[in-house]
Amino acid sequence: MNLRDIRIQLMMYSIGILGSLIVSTSIFAETSKSTDSMQLNPIQVAPHTYFVQGLPEMGSSANQNFISNAGFVVTPGGVVVVDALGSPILAKKLIGEIKKITPQKVVAVIVSHYHADHIYGLQEFKKIGAKIYAQGEGRNYLSSETAKLRLIASRVDFAPWVDVNTKLISADVWIDQKSTLTVGRVDFLISRVGPAHAPEDLMVYVPSEKVLFAGDLVFRGRIPFVGHADSKGWLAALDAIEQANPSVVIPGHGGFSIKPTEDITFTRDYLKYLRESMSRAAINLDPFEEAYQQADWSEYEGMPLFRAANRMNAYNVYLSIQAE
Ligand SMILES: [Zn+2]
Repeated sequence: MNLRDIRIQLMMYSIGILGSLIVSTSIFAETSKSTDSMQLNPIQVAPHTYFVQGLPEMGSSANQNFISNAGFVVTPGGVVVVDALGSPILAKKLIGEIKKITPQKVVAVIVSHYHADHIYGLQEFKKIGAKIYAQGEGRNYLSSETAKLRLIASRVDFAPWVDVNTKLISADVWIDQKSTLTVGRVDFLISRVGPAHAPEDLMVYVPSEKVLFAGDLVFRGRIPFVGHADSKGWLAALDAIEQANPSVVIPGHGGFSIKPTEDITFTRDYLKYLRESMSRAAINLDPFEEAYQQADWSEYEGMPLFRAANRMNAYNVYLSIQAE
């Protein structure tokens, strides 16, 4: 990261925090008295595999930051969960839903990556004795200024569901490249696919269910959130997912996929288009604004989160191509 990037990042953080303070004062009065109406409804996608689907929105107090998915597999030796949702209250609700399906305890949580919307529920799983697994690069996130500032902002943005008692939780087991977790004779093949969406991206494949948990590498029915992703590494990770040849893919956001190839293709085409449309301008040091205006977004304009994410995605790819 060069000086300019750091400055841009700092600027984005301060705008973010300031923005959240302004927004929060207006919505806090509303949410503090509003009742808790968020419900999680597990969807079964394979004999022993379920997931809950986050809303295609930006996180807010009203949605308790329920914008990402979490999945779980019931085995004779306990339940393995993938991702912990975006607030402790959501994690509690997920644990409640799991109890309705099986008397088995949650024994493990695998974190696809350390982004706020996937990890703020971790402490609830820790409380019930689950072991947490994540890729080793997650340690850098946990000790970063980004993580601290994000949490401070989230306590405002998602009040009262994320508060001073919400903590960042470290993994119990840090995975380097590959690891197989076996619970109740069911194998969970965990492999590193980052740096892509995040430096610590993991995917989890369960061969006996033919289900693959793809984290935020495959997006369905909405504009992907690219953030500070490594778009080149991401394209390689999509190939790795395709090679596993799963019957079902559970993405980090959006509906599950029984046509993984189609959804992988959508994400791949979007990333490729971002790279194509931004690269000439980035290399020639042409202004971002011009390149963005000139690009044809008609294929993506109608999709959820286009307004919220597309411009930032394009800008991040523009910056990352310059860094390459
Ligand atoms: Zn996410």
